[in-house]
Amino acid sequence: MSDLPLLAGPGAARDSLYINGQWGPGETDESFDVTNPATGDVLAVVAAGQAADVQRAIDAADTAFPAWAGLTAYQRSAYLYDAYRLMLERADDLAMLMTMEQGKPLKAARTEVQYAADFLIWFAEEAKRVYGSTIPSARADQRFMVLRQPVGVVAAITPWNYPVSMITRKVAPAFAAGCPVLLKPAEHTPLTAIAVFKIFEDVGIPAGVANLVTTEDPRVFSERVFASRAVRKIAFTGSTAVGKMLAREAASTVKRVSLELGGHAPFIVFADADPVHAAKGATLVKFLNTGQACISPNRIFVHRSIAAEFVKTLVARTTKLTVGNGLDATSGVGPLIDQTSIDRMRRQVDNARAGGATVHAGGEQLRGEDYDGGHFFAPTVLTGVTPEMDIYREETFGPIAAVTVFDDEAEVIAMANDTDYGLASYVYTRDLARALRVSEQLRFGMVGINDINPTSAAAPFGGVKESGLGREGAAEGIGEYLDTKLIGLSI
Ligand code: NAD
Repeated sequence: MSDLPLLAGPGAARDSLYINGQWGPGETDESFDVTNPATGDVLAVVAAGQAADVQRAIDAADTAFPAWAGLTAYQRSAYLYDAYRLMLERADDLAMLMTMEQGKPLKAARTEVQYAADFLIWFAEEAKRVYGSTIPSARADQRFMVLRQPVGVVAAITPWNYPVSMITRKVAPAFAAGCPVLLKPAEHTPLTAIAVFKIFEDVGIPAGVANLVTTEDPRVFSERVFASRAVRKIAFTGSTAVGKMLAREAASTVKRVSLELGGHAPFIVFADADPVHAAKGATLVKFLNTGQACISPNRIFVHRSIAAEFVKTLVARTTKLTVGNGLDATSGVGPLIDQTSIDRMRRQVDNARAGGATVHAGGEQLRGEDYDGGHFFAPTVLTGVTPEMDIYREETFGPIAAVTVFDDEAEVIAMANDTDYGLASYVYTRDLARALRVSEQLRFGMVGINDINPTSAAAPFGGVKESGLGREGAAEGIGEYLDTKLIGLSI
């Protein structure tokens, strides 16, 4: 463990719980292994927090709440600025640690650290812009004032695919608003979470405001949180199935929830688009993070008239990708997170093939010396994908580009909207009127027009339908951690 970047000293190995300003072990001796998905090597053994640990974190956060909320916005902002600076100072080590436990290529890990830091500085500023309002009363002797106040203790749960930025996207607005947090990172990626909480410790965020509970069984965390009246909000990024369960259980104490869930993004290429440019964009965004992104295109719809050229470029670009250990500078695509993901890729490819789809590239697990112990799947292109196939409905979360041909605009909008998900969507066209018309009709929280990365700390990120509730980033992001209070005053 001490050989890993940023993890020497307190917070290492079994002392991975950070509660009330102290690193320590869990209530019991239980622990779990963290492995490198590129090699299968055990990187570290981390404490498996238990219900009593979660309760200690809730109590610490509850105790810290009044003083934290009582600081001025400028004081809370200063902590976030310091955390921003320190995260960038440690960016290279943080990226290296993330590559080792999550697998993404180092360059992509470095980009994620910058994205994560962007939330710290964005909400350092937003902290100072929590505006209230006054409202005219019908009574001459009455005044109305509206205040916005922190919701209270926040329980945050994050996934493994973006292990640093999913933390700051929640914790930065919570801190800015005046809320303490207890966070449970994904079982696959507790090490980067530890490194992020070391930053909070090192910039002096007061004890009890930032609490980290690593666990092997996530239910240990959520069940304690559901039972607590002190926790007033759950902030979650992960699968739709878990998100629905959290929303159901949160209802018993009427906690607020924000949910960033799964996606099934359509990527629509109209006849007037440049098929080569569109195919380059599709390759970049599809294989980003080995396809393990909620905004990853899951259904690529291409107009029949340009389908041949689009597919030719997509296949050429896909077969050129270099798959390997993210620490190797030549790797453009890293491993999948685990064997379950490889099995899902196989199942979706086999099912599509059986239904009549054609495999143009990849389609199988990569084996051999370079891939020993890791979870590597060849970047894959399928054509002839139809609504009956699993891949057309299920989130793939892996490196498979699934192409379907369409003939007209109304048809493709109906096909794109034919999903319970509604997170990201993409449109390629050179016709401005069409771009706007289609964007208005797509039932998704985000639309990229000739643009594969419609994300930024400054822009509202989130989904509609079963892709989630609430928005992260932007001005809306801090609103998720604020309650509205009305004051009526007789004068
Ligand atoms: P997951 O739902 O299995 O896990 C996400 C987190 O929830 C992990 O920390 C996990 O430990 C925790 N969890 C699982 N069961 C739980 C329970 N019973 N109680 C409490 N916590 C529980 O999802 P995953 O496989 O880690 O992540 C992939 C999913 O996340 C995909 O569906 C992806 O689309 C989604 N995602 C969404 C966004 C977004 O912003 N919308 C971003 C990234 C990932």
